[in-house]
Amino acid sequence: MAPNKPEMAGSEESRVIGDNDLSGIYLHIPFCATRCHYCNFATGGYESELARRYVAALCTEIDQSAEEWAGERVETIYFGGGTPTTLTPEQLGTILDRCRRHFEVVSDAEVTIEANPGSVDGDYLCRLRDLGIDRISFGVQSFDDRELAMIGRSHGSREAREAVTLARAAGFANISLDLIAGLPEQRIETWHQNLGEIFALAPEHLSVYLLELYRDAPLQHRIERGELRAIDDELTVAMYYHLVDEAARHGYEQYEISNWARPGRRSRHNLKYWTGAHYLAFGLSAAGYDGRRRWSNTRLIHDYLDLIEQGRSPVAEVIPLDDDDRQCEALFLKLRLLDGVDLVAHERQHGVCVSERYREGIARLLDAGLIEIDDQRMCISRAGLVLANEVFAEFID
Ligand code: SF4
Repeated sequence: MAPNKPEMAGSEESRVIGDNDLSGIYLHIPFCATRCHYCNFATGGYESELARRYVAALCTEIDQSAEEWAGERVETIYFGGGTPTTLTPEQLGTILDRCRRHFEVVSDAEVTIEANPGSVDGDYLCRLRDLGIDRISFGVQSFDDRELAMIGRSHGSREAREAVTLARAAGFANISLDLIAGLPEQRIETWHQNLGEIFALAPEHLSVYLLELYRDAPLQHRIERGELRAIDDELTVAMYYHLVDEAARHGYEQYEISNWARPGRRSRHNLKYWTGAHYLAFGLSAAGYDGRRRWSNTRLIHDYLDLIEQGRSPVAEVIPLDDDDRQCEALFLKLRLLDGVDLVAHERQHGVCVSERYREGIARLLDAGLIEIDDQRMCISRAGLVLANEVFAEFID
C-alpha cells in the first residue's frame, strides 16, 4: 500500500481492465504566463521557486504511488496544464525519469506535451525531442488576432504559425492543434478563415472545443455587461458542421465529437479516457481512474505542496464505481467516439444487453435520428453530434 494514498489501495486482481490493458499517465503542470479570460483550469502564475518546489512534490507523489501501481504497463504519458512548457527541459526530464523508473513504459509510448504558441523556441523544442517527447499539442484557439486579444491569450496568430514551423524543424511528426468555437462576436467568416489556416498547417491532429464559460469568468462578465455579444446556437451549430465537412474534405477522420486525426494519428492518451483504460494522474487537480474508482487531487497548490511534503495524500475526492456505474459510463463514454459501442462486446464485458435495458430510450433516440444501430454497433449520428448530452442522458440511470 502506498504510504500517501491509503484510501486508494487496491490489489492488482481487484482492478478492472477496459478495452486496453496498457495505462496512461497524466501529469499536471499548473503554471501559465498569463490567465486567459475563459479559463477554469487549476493554474496560476509561474514563479521559479514555486515551480522548483512543485516539481519536487510531483516526483515525490510519483515515488509514493509506485508501490501501489507496481507492474503497471504504460503506453502514454501526457503533460497537461496549465502550460507545461513553463518548466525547463531539465525539470520535465526529471519528471519523465521518475515515471520511467517506477513504471514499465513501453518502447513506442506516446509522450505528449501541451504548449502555447510563443512559449517555445527551436532549441527548447529540440530538447523536448531529446527527452523522448514525440507529440506536441499547441493551444492555438484562433488565428484571428482580435479574437485572441479578446480572450486574453498570450500570443498572436503569427506565433501559432511559427510554433508549427519550429516544431516541424525540431522533428515533431505528430502535432495537434486546439481551436475554440463559439467565441463571443465570432463570425462565420472568421471561422472559415480559422479552418483555412489550420488545414494549411496540416497538423496530424485537431481538437475543437465549444466555448463554455463558468460564472466568474472575465469573459462572462463582459458578456453580462453588454460589452460583448454571445453568438447564438444556430451559428455555433453551423460552425461545427462546417468543420466536420472541411475536416473530412482534408483527409481527417473524426473519431470523437471534438477530435479529428489523420489516419493512424488518433490521440492514444485521450482514447484511454473514453475506452475504460486505466490512467494514473499526478499533480494539482489531476484525475485518475483504475477501473474501480475515479479520484482527483486537491486544486489548491499550497495544500498540494504541504500535503505531499508532510507525506500525506493529495487526493481530495474518490468516487467508487460499482458494476452498473461502469457499464453505464462505458456506454456514454464510447458514444462520444464515432466508432460507437459494440453491443455484443459490451454485453460480454458488462453482462448487460443494452437493447433490452434501454429499450425505450433507444427507441426515442432512433426516432429523433440521434443515434444509429447497424448490425451490432450503436453510434451517435451526424444529427446527434450537436445534441450529445441528450443522447448520453438516456443511458444515465
Ligand atoms: S494557457 Fe490554458 S491553462 Fe493557461 S490560462 Fe490559458 S486556457 Fe488556462
